[in-house]
Amino acid sequence: MSITAETKCSYCFKTICCQYITQQIDSPKKKADFQVMLWQIAHANVEFYKDEDGWFLMFITPCEQLEATGGCAIYNQRPDICREYDNDYCEYDASAEENFELYFKTYDELLSYCRKRFKKWDKKK
Ligand code: SF4
Ligand code: SF4
Repeated sequence: MSITAETKCSYCFKTICCQYITQQIDSPKKKADFQVMLWQIAHANVEFYKDEDGWFLMFITPCEQLEATGGCAIYNQRPDICREYDNDYCEYDASAEENFELYFKTYDELLSYCRKRFKKWDKKK
């Protein structure tokens, strides 16, 4: 049986789109901006990415309204952003990462980027 838009979510056992939140941030430019990001990404489940829309902070944290069966406990009142998410071509079909220009999952990855971007990163003031 072929997967259709109506049935696709029932095949998506990890309910991928309900496992994280994102927040767009101002594009970091100065060392001080990246210092704040390093502090943030030093915490568990915090990541950053940049895509064609800009920079985003991401928290890997499942929605508490997600039911064990994969359903939404507040389906009729779910937020607009959930309502508007189109499953025609979604993360079940292709990972969002494919559109990331930059992706930092760990403190060390971001620190390595900072050292490349700012030649004097390790120099004390
Ligand atoms: S919209 Fe896509 S990613 Fe979200 S639960 Fe359905 S199939 Fe999975
Ligand atoms: S409110 Fe429902 S649809 Fe929205 S992220 Fe949570 S479980 Fe998913």
